[in-house]
Amino acid sequence: MTRTPLVAANWKMNGRFGLVAELGAALATADLGSAEVAVCPPFPYLQALGAELKGSAVGLGAQTLCDHEDGAFTGEVSAEMLVDLGCRYVIVGHSERREHFGEDDDLVASKFLRAQKAGLIPILCVGETLRQREAGETEHVVVRQLMAVVEAAGCGAFNRAVLAYEPVWAIGTGLTASPEQAQAVHADLRAALAARDPDVAAGIRLLYGGSVKADNAAPLFAQPDIDGGLIGGASLNEKEFIAICRAAG
Ligand code: PEP
Repeated sequence: MTRTPLVAANWKMNGRFGLVAELGAALATADLGSAEVAVCPPFPYLQALGAELKGSAVGLGAQTLCDHEDGAFTGEVSAEMLVDLGCRYVIVGHSERREHFGEDDDLVASKFLRAQKAGLIPILCVGETLRQREAGETEHVVVRQLMAVVEAAGCGAFNRAVLAYEPVWAIGTGLTASPEQAQAVHADLRAALAARDPDVAAGIRLLYGGSVKADNAAPLFAQPDIDGGLIGGASLNEKEFIAICRAAG
């Protein structure tokens, strides 16, 4: 099965209106190659970036969402609001949310369900810490994180989802998993889904994330089970990000 690669930018808690205008205009008009591209800015900039990207093929996404419907949840942002803002994607289970905001597998699963119920496509992140990798626990950890959502949502739900393998030790550190290391984990994840539903496993896009840059993207994206990337730091730089998109297409 052919899978259209996806490159998704995660701006994290970075950017101002100036970056939205500059990068938004650049991405809306650049030749990004044949990969699908999406950008996930902080909540306050979703509307402005959406306006910049209007009419282009670049999609809009959010970095997290509330696991409840609209109501008395001060400070939170619902899936319905993200849809109203024009979002197509939402990242769930990013390791920074798991680590700094106490998001466990159950909460991640309920955010995934809320996102899909509203019509958003969740980008589910899984990944091991350096300690877990050194202890030989990588496959166990990432498959557990994936299965927590499969159990809650059903394997068929992954027909309308994206999975991102993001080793925690490679995020924002400048350390990147080698193409072979990343491919091995992607193959484990696809096999875990195939054991439940071979068609879902064959169709799902598996992104790699963790210090992807213009100069290391191509060999990662050339791996058979890597279908694009989730890009943090390098997505804030116009030239870098456009080159990464082209490397995926
Ligand atoms: C991320 O935040 O999802 C990420 C992959 O970050 P970076 O590319 O900066 O490592």
